[in-house]
Amino acid sequence: MVGTTNGAANGHDHNSSAWSPSSWRSRPIKQPVTYEDEAAVAKSRSKLQRLPPIVTPYEIWKLRRSLADVAEGKAFLLQGGDCAELFDYCNEAAIDSKIKLLLQMSLVLIWGGNKPVVRIARMAGQYAKPRSSPVEMLDGKQVPSFRGDILNGYEPDARDIDPDRLVQAYFHSAATLNYVRAQIASGVADLHNPLDWNLGHVGDEELQTKYTRIVDSIRESLQFMKTVGADTAGQLQTVDLFTSHEGLLLEYEEALTRKLRHPVNRNVPSPPPSVPKVSPLTGGAFIDPSLKAQAETHGYYNTSAHFLWVGDRTRQPDHAHIEYFRGIENPIGIKVGPTTSIEDLAELLDIVNPRKEVGKVTLITRYGEGKVNDLLPVHIEAVRKTGHVVVWQCDPMHGNTRSTTSGIKTRSFASILSELSSALRIHSECGSILGGVHLELTGDAVTECTGGSQGLQDEDLGERYETFCDPRLNEKQALEMAFLVAGSQRV
Ligand code: PEP
Ligand code: MN
Repeated sequence: MVGTTNGAANGHDHNSSAWSPSSWRSRPIKQPVTYEDEAAVAKSRSKLQRLPPIVTPYEIWKLRRSLADVAEGKAFLLQGGDCAELFDYCNEAAIDSKIKLLLQMSLVLIWGGNKPVVRIARMAGQYAKPRSSPVEMLDGKQVPSFRGDILNGYEPDARDIDPDRLVQAYFHSAATLNYVRAQIASGVADLHNPLDWNLGHVGDEELQTKYTRIVDSIRESLQFMKTVGADTAGQLQTVDLFTSHEGLLLEYEEALTRKLRHPVNRNVPSPPPSVPKVSPLTGGAFIDPSLKAQAETHGYYNTSAHFLWVGDRTRQPDHAHIEYFRGIENPIGIKVGPTTSIEDLAELLDIVNPRKEVGKVTLITRYGEGKVNDLLPVHIEAVRKTGHVVVWQCDPMHGNTRSTTSGIKTRSFASILSELSSALRIHSECGSILGGVHLELTGDAVTECTGGSQGLQDEDLGERYETFCDPRLNEKQALEMAFLVAGSQRV
């Protein structure tokens, strides 16, 4: 239909075949899912296809424009939330505490970087998990691995893949986002209201003073703006909070991908001048005038979340996930780790963003504190050579997972901070920009990561170890991470 090639740098020929929301099905796939009951899957699929979008092209483009600002150093990106979001987290308290935490962290980061912060929650859809093994041990018994609530349940008797969960995922996602939208519209993020910062846990007096000074400074700035009437546009009353999840379960993503009219205010950020403008459909000259007209007015949007990312385990250039991701209008993330070759990196960028649009792609780096120094500079240089302008985001969580002597999966606050600090320094040394941070966190007082001002030790982890996948920073650790990043930006 729209075949022809642009002789793209990739050897995998993505551009020579037509893309459709289902074209991923003809590619090899990692983390495959085998449903026993095909009829039940078909039923879920057709139900999902009839349901309305959860997010709209207007919102998706608003985020894309904001991410273009991040790529150019004009804004900072904060992304955070659970590793595995459970359907059970779709409740008032869990959602409230996460909104509050992301808001507080963003205020601290605004203070530190003196620029706007773009907020993306890993929430309202983060229900699918890649797993390294198909089985795991639970209460001394081997069971199929928990793959996230969208596929199976955590309880040992719920480990069979259940196609009905596809539809349940939609409704939990929609209910979560509905409450987020309602809370924001009702003034939960109204900066005229005092926020409870709760710094009592910080035992170290020097740190306590430092953090208190930052909070005081934020309070004074807000007070000043109110006093001088700087809030004429009502900007202090509300904020944007976008949603994201790993685009892992393509069955679900496909069903929520819709051909929709582009918003009028799309304002595609221009590619750098050296980049020739080519068709997004063919990679070369436009062929069919009616297709050209459609491409200008419509595009395929993943309407399940504003932002989706491809995980470290599913980003092979010639596989199904990248095939799916190359066709959607949403801003996307790609996890980049120790096993990402510079050839793959360049090829991936050309496949998913042939027009080199600024802010379209976020590279989420996750090497580990011991590897970031060697690998990040090489990746920064490789990307620079391609001419792509990306958002560089540091995920200091996934390269720093360790096991305690009693076999509990955890992460040390110091290691997380170390990778993040290294990333900040390396970007600055390489003349690049660290645009943002990607954290696994929860607004609750869990004990899953060690360290931080509460001084959690390996022995303390049993107290409230509640994650169903990776260990998350608790509210205090997450806020402290924001204080430390902000502090280093201010000096
Ligand atoms: C995640 O973000 O939860 C995840 C699985 O990360 P990665 O793909 O980087 O391993
Ligand atoms: Mn994780």
